[in-house]
Amino acid sequence: MLSGGDKLESAKEIWKKALDKLQIQVSKANYTTWLGNSEGVSCQDDTFVVSVPSIFAAEWLSKRLYPLVRKTLVDIAGRDVDVQFVVQNHEQPGLAGASPLANQTDGGTSSRATQYRFNPRYTFDNFVVSDSNRLAYAAALEVAENPGSSYNPLFIHSSTGQGKTHLLHAIGHLTTNNGLQATYTTAEQFANEFVLAVRENQVDKFRSKFRNIHAFLFDDVHFLIDKKQTLQCFFQTFNELYNNNRQIVITADCAPKDMQPLSSKLKSRLEGGLVVDIQPPDFETRLNILRAKAETMMISDLDGVLHIVAEKVCGNVRQLEGALIYLAAQAKLSGTKITPETVNKLLTGTPPRQDIKLLLRAVADHFNLATEELIAKKRDRKTSLARHIAIYLMREGYNYSLTEIGKELGGRNHATILHGYEKIASAVSTNPNLSDQIEEIKEKLNSQKDYRKSYQTV
Ligand code: ADP
Ligand code: MG
Repeated sequence: MLSGGDKLESAKEIWKKALDKLQIQVSKANYTTWLGNSEGVSCQDDTFVVSVPSIFAAEWLSKRLYPLVRKTLVDIAGRDVDVQFVVQNHEQPGLAGASPLANQTDGGTSSRATQYRFNPRYTFDNFVVSDSNRLAYAAALEVAENPGSSYNPLFIHSSTGQGKTHLLHAIGHLTTNNGLQATYTTAEQFANEFVLAVRENQVDKFRSKFRNIHAFLFDDVHFLIDKKQTLQCFFQTFNELYNNNRQIVITADCAPKDMQPLSSKLKSRLEGGLVVDIQPPDFETRLNILRAKAETMMISDLDGVLHIVAEKVCGNVRQLEGALIYLAAQAKLSGTKITPETVNKLLTGTPPRQDIKLLLRAVADHFNLATEELIAKKRDRKTSLARHIAIYLMREGYNYSLTEIGKELGGRNHATILHGYEKIASAVSTNPNLSDQIEEIKEKLNSQKDYRKSYQTV
């Protein structure tokens, strides 16, 4: 994994490349006014953070250039990333350095700029409520309105791209608008800062950052599962806040009870309040989300074909957004109207990415393993073979990039994934036993109703 410094460097470089491309796509006046003094800050948790000098620029870019900037970054990164515009807060460098979301030590003297530590697009108003997320939405709203007094902790879990981060930011907006302090941090950010604090002998200072806040918004706690020391620091922070009736909201990719290596004591801590999940959206919800997104992104050329998009893209909300942006960009670039035929053509090339957990589970089941064993470091023959098959299926069936597959498999690097893929790809045509096993797994996958729609190209 890259160190914090490397990440900073590469975010800067990526943003430079993006600016080169953007410069030729927007007017000179807009470029100078809004993008001139921008900087790439970080790329964590699939979100690329760009800092700009003023809240006006952050707002303008979020409203007007978001689709184009995101598309440009997706092209450069070769994977799906979200974009967030923030105002760089120079007065409070804190431990996270340039990270705009984690510096919350201002003791309530928040300036207008600090509001942009939360993504302006991730509000309760912009969240499309449906049966699949109603409970999570209602609970999030309740804790934002009455932090510390109802469900504590609130634990929200779902597969990726279903709105967990969105809800955390929405809670952050509302609590800060009510004059309270909220801190949002990803588990990865927390872990990086903790390591830095240990190195610099500043753990107490690090922990004190969280002491006086009203709402602690902690994203993707599963990232800490194998990080014993960071986990311990997290739970100390958790206990301190909890004992002071401060609101804690945690998200993860699974329920506490399924976090295998976690001790039962820690699990019961996480389960002590309310645990809610968000399910993948059904057709109706997908269509509603697409309509709402098209409206906020001011995309009107796709009105007649959104139902086809909702039908074809049946994975998560991030994929729906991605498809919308992709189609809008195609319409703009080709200068032609997007018809149902074009949608079919354009979206068939990139099969939607369905919940990858199902795939991993199917492979693990086939080998009598637990999904976690595919993700963990175990390297015996059986586990390695299972892992390589999972890599192969993800790449073949979903058009996943090597980096994305690495991320799904516990942060393995691109070269390891390529090696695994090539091993299976080169053996599958000559080894009937292997190809039988792969067919069996595919059959199992295809027998799962929701899954079939997206996995038909394998
Ligand atoms: P997660 O944290 O679960 O991986 P995110 O919160 O990052 O997912 O959501 C991915 C994208 O989908 C974001 O751009 C978010 O705004 C959008 N999104 C997710 N759920 C909804 C929803 N119910 N309504 C509107 N947008 C949503
Ligand atoms: Mg998230």
